[in-house]
Amino acid sequence: MPYPEQFTGFQVNGPDTWLDFHKNEFQAKPFGDYDVDIKIEACGLCSSDVHTISGGWGSQHYPLTVGHEIVGTALRVGPKVTLIKPGQRVGVGAQSYSCLDCRQCNSDNETYCRKQLDTYGAKWPDTGIISQGGYSSHVRTHEHWVFPIPDGLPSTCAAPMLCAGLTAYSPLIRNGCGPGKKVGIVGLGGIGHFGLMFAKALGAETWVISRSHSKEADAKKMGADGFLATQDEDWTEGHAMTFDLIVNSANSDEGFPLSEYLSLLDVHGKWVSVGLPEGDGLKIRNQDLIANGCFIGSSHLGSRKEVLAMLQLAADKGIMTWVEEVPINAQNLAKSLERLHKGDIRYRFCMVGYDKEFNA
Ligand SMILES: [Zn+2]
Ligand SMILES: [Zn+2]
Repeated sequence: MPYPEQFTGFQVNGPDTWLDFHKNEFQAKPFGDYDVDIKIEACGLCSSDVHTISGGWGSQHYPLTVGHEIVGTALRVGPKVTLIKPGQRVGVGAQSYSCLDCRQCNSDNETYCRKQLDTYGAKWPDTGIISQGGYSSHVRTHEHWVFPIPDGLPSTCAAPMLCAGLTAYSPLIRNGCGPGKKVGIVGLGGIGHFGLMFAKALGAETWVISRSHSKEADAKKMGADGFLATQDEDWTEGHAMTFDLIVNSANSDEGFPLSEYLSLLDVHGKWVSVGLPEGDGLKIRNQDLIANGCFIGSSHLGSRKEVLAMLQLAADKGIMTWVEEVPINAQNLAKSLERLHKGDIRYRFCMVGYDKEFNA
């Protein structure tokens, strides 16, 4: 299957014009021995895309193509590739490199490697080329960060799992989510809806905690055992010190009642935040931790092993991402990202129609 040396993608020129997408050709990094070239067929839209191109997370290398929930077909593989075969349906998430040699990489913690590079916006060490994401025709990725997609899983379900899904799955797995445990998911957005469905699939009693009741019906359809709305008076009543684990996926911490959330945790229960709100963050007082000796932590993406296990769990249990499919083009990207920015999506956008847009 022929394809160009130059890839084509929808790029943004700067934070002031972050909704103006320009269809440009760009140079991928040189094809390496372990690289896989992928023809993209679907890509989810992540809040990271908005934070990045709108400047909320600081300065970036422009022009830039974002998108890091990618599914497509492997076209060619480097001579040393053993994990992926040409023609296979595969995915790429938010991370595209680590050293694979350090203490962290050798313990399935490659997502925490100090040399880790992101799928978009990262500068490749040797060439200075800036990595470009999945709002584009192709992506070139080291095999370690290329994941075979199980047959039972539709591409538009699998794509959003590769960042949002993994972000929810890894902290559940690493903090004991399973039968006999009571787990809370704060914020029912892209990440949160995966947190809920994965926690249920892993066998935990799972509650959603949200500001209002507006998403309660959806949460129940996804299998939630219960729903708490922080706008209700005495919303913690009956739940104090009963949760083993709470995963916080909220994308904003304005007016966030942290001490009330922490009061829900059992002794040495864990609060794990995975969202990255803009701004200065929350103030943590020791007084908020001492009543139950709880732990506060965070989590970043997940390992290759966790990606493969998550995709298999989703295929085995028939977990279906709540996805709104949108044909990729400049106008639709702008419209969808604007809606995502306002939280107007239940629960993930996935761009499709790549063949029509890039092969015409
Ligand atoms: Zn993401
Ligand atoms: Zn490493």
